[in-house]
Amino acid sequence: DEEEEEEEEEEEDRVDLAETSLLNKLIRTSLVESSHRVEILQQDPSSPLFSVKTFEELPLKKELLQGIYMMGFNRPSKIQETALPIMLPLPCRPQNLIAQSQSGTGKTAAFVLAMLSRVNAAEKYPQCLCLAPTYELALQIGHVIEKIGRFCADITVMYAVRGNRVLQGTTLQEQIVIGTPGTMLDWCFKRRVVDLKKINMFVLDEADIMIDTQGLSCQSIRIQRALPKGCQMLLFSATFKETVRAFATQIVSNPIMIKLREEELTLSNIRQYFFVCRSWEEKYRALCNIYGSITIGQAMIFCQTRRSADWLSVEMSQDGHQVAILTAELTVAQRADVIQRFRDGKEKVLIATNVCARGIDVQQVTIVVNFSLPTNQRSEPDFETYLHRIGRTGRFGKRGVAFSMVESQNVRLVQMIEEHFQALGNCDEQEMDESR
Ligand code: ADP
Repeated sequence: DEEEEEEEEEEEDRVDLAETSLLNKLIRTSLVESSHRVEILQQDPSSPLFSVKTFEELPLKKELLQGIYMMGFNRPSKIQETALPIMLPLPCRPQNLIAQSQSGTGKTAAFVLAMLSRVNAAEKYPQCLCLAPTYELALQIGHVIEKIGRFCADITVMYAVRGNRVLQGTTLQEQIVIGTPGTMLDWCFKRRVVDLKKINMFVLDEADIMIDTQGLSCQSIRIQRALPKGCQMLLFSATFKETVRAFATQIVSNPIMIKLREEELTLSNIRQYFFVCRSWEEKYRALCNIYGSITIGQAMIFCQTRRSADWLSVEMSQDGHQVAILTAELTVAQRADVIQRFRDGKEKVLIATNVCARGIDVQQVTIVVNFSLPTNQRSEPDFETYLHRIGRTGRFGKRGVAFSMVESQNVRLVQMIEEHFQALGNCDEQEMDESR
């Protein structure tokens, strides 16, 4: 019955793409490297593409180069190598761009550099508009502008987001306005604090999330339609399904379209251990036995439900272990805070429910514990979730260790996992342990 209850609970929760994207931005400390080349899906035949290997080759002002070095960036990321030469040239011949690459590959830093290059700091009115799906994601972009643009003293940013009031009839002084489509629409058409005719760069970030959220894509299109002809349009997305592609080409005319293939996850550098247990208590005892080794680095423990996550965190805290817990009842801000503390090393163990952790990138976590194996509605292993939780990208990924607790009646799941990944040829070893 524990199992049945777990399934019911899982149904209730919904994964929010925008929240996942935000949490990933927060948990990540560095670039997601790629072994693939940037593919060009569509090109302007009259202007050959080129890519750069250093930031110095680009037409960047020295304040921006300083900002880049302060960020610790040594050279452009894969997507930046191609996207920056397209976006940066002088405004006399603005080239539109659609770029797709998985999150963490440097898209935000790329368009932030483009916006900071484009604005004329001496002019005090909005020149670049940037749209993001949520308040939090808009703020996150703003933080990147502040950091990379820290030496561009005269460039300022305004946020067109809920709760940020502007008086009708005033005109904004800030050169860059970042916001969500709804508030931006209100500011441009109702309050008229932004003169769209003067905008020369329009950036739309996280296009895949925009189209997934009711209304955001229509609002974005309404804003885009009112922009002047010469305005440079840039669109970014982590994924590129047909619906995203259709939306992108509606927003951006005559684009160069580039794409960086996603790194595949593999289990080949992961040691996987399975513990067969009869109850939560037994799982907890098994966990205590390995606790010393899991807290050498940072560990993440995945639970199937809120109830088991709560139970585990209480047990661990009572035994004096410092743990952080990520569950669905926390607000986004609270979740972001938990992740930040974990990222800063304040807690070495992060317990998360299945739903909360779905889609979260845990590449830098050294040890993963599955308090339950992920399963689908048919009680079969959820291979994709399993791989996403413990897998690493082949060439750049560090070695990892994964411990999975499995109920005695579910031992066949281990076998199925083994067979599945062995068939795919990306699994070296499995070890099984009867904890009692
Ligand atoms: P995306 O927008 O694709 O999710 P970001 O621009 O947020 O990616 O970059 C992901 C992480 O990599 C951030 O922590 C960012 O500071 C860092 N980063 C971006 N560009 C570079 C670079 N050229 N060199 C090193 N780190 C970078």
